[in-house]
Amino acid sequence: MLGLPDPPPARPEFGHDALVVCDNLVRIYQSAHVEVQALQGLDLLVHAGEMVALVGASGSGKSTLLNVLAGVDAPTAGRARVAGHDLVSLSRAEQVHYRRHVVGFVRQQTARNLVPYLTARQTVDLPMTIAGRPRAERRSRVDELLEVLGVGHCAERRPDEMSGGEQQRVSIAVALANGPDLLLADEPTGELDSETGAEVFAALRTVNAELGATVVVVTHDAGVSGQVARTVAIRDGRTSSEVVRGQADEDGTRTAEEFAVMDRAGRVQLPREYREALDLTRRVRVALAGDHVEIRSDREAGG
Ligand code: ADP
Ligand code: MG
Repeated sequence: MLGLPDPPPARPEFGHDALVVCDNLVRIYQSAHVEVQALQGLDLLVHAGEMVALVGASGSGKSTLLNVLAGVDAPTAGRARVAGHDLVSLSRAEQVHYRRHVVGFVRQQTARNLVPYLTARQTVDLPMTIAGRPRAERRSRVDELLEVLGVGHCAERRPDEMSGGEQQRVSIAVALANGPDLLLADEPTGELDSETGAEVFAALRTVNAELGATVVVVTHDAGVSGQVARTVAIRDGRTSSEVVRGQADEDGTRTAEEFAVMDRAGRVQLPREYREALDLTRRVRVALAGDHVEIRSDREAGG
C-alpha cells in the first residue's frame, strides 16, 4: 500500500440540510433604460418546521424573493433551492408541479387568493381536485383545514360574505390544500386593520405549530413579527440582520437576541447607530482580538 493521505473530508454544501436555500441570489429587472437590482446576492436558509418573518422597507426586495421561492419568477443569478427543487433551472412542466405541490402562496390582495363565485369549501377543494385526489379524502381535508384556521363557519360562503380576515384565513387553507413543503405569505395582513391582521398572523402560527408547516411570511408590522422565533431583515436586496427569540416563559416574555448576518464572502452590515456613534465611514480598521473581532474608525485616535 502506498502511504497516500486520506482525502480531506468533503465540506457539506451550503445549506445541505435546509429546506430553503438562497445562495448569493440575484434578481435584476431590466427595462428599456433602467436596471433595478432587486436582489443583490441574498443568502437565506430556512429549515423544515421553522416560521420566519421577513421584514424590510418598501422596495427592499421582499416580494421579489417570495416570487422566486414561489416559482413565479426566476432568479438572474445565484442558487435557490426548495425541498430539493432547483429554482434556477425549472422546466415548464416542473414549474407547474412545483407550484401545485411544493409551495403554497398567500398574497396580500385578498381578492387575488380566492374566486368570487366559489364558496370557501369549493375553493379549498379546487387544488386537490386538480391534483386528482379522491373525493372523500378532499372532503375531510377541507373540513380539517377550515377548522384549524377557525373558519369552519365560512365553508358555504363566497368571498363577499366573509370579512377580510376570514378571506385571508381561507386563503391560507387553499395554499395548504395539497400539503406543500413550504407556505409563503406576502404581507397577508397588509390590507387588514391591526386587530384582524393579528388574527391572520395567529392563524399562520397555528398552522406552523399544529400542522408542522414551514412558513415564510413578509410583514411590515413589527408588533406581529415579534411573535415569531426568527425575524430576518432585508435591506437593499440582502439579508442584513436577524432577531432570534427564545421560548416564551410562563409570564409570556421571550428573550430576543439580534444578530448581524454575514454573507458567504464575509461581508457584514453594521447597524446604522453603531456607524454613526463611532463615525465609521468608508474604511475601518479590523483586528482579531482573541475570541472577537474589533472594528474601529480609520482615523487616528486623537487626544
Ligand atoms: P418589497 O416587496 O420589499 O417592497 P420588491 O421586491 O417589490 O420590494 O421590489 C424590489 C425592487 O425591485 C424595487 O426597487 C422595485 O421597484 C423593483 N421591482 C419590483 N418588481 C419589478 C418589475 N416587475 N420590474 C421592474 N422593477 C421591479
Ligand atoms: Mg412587496
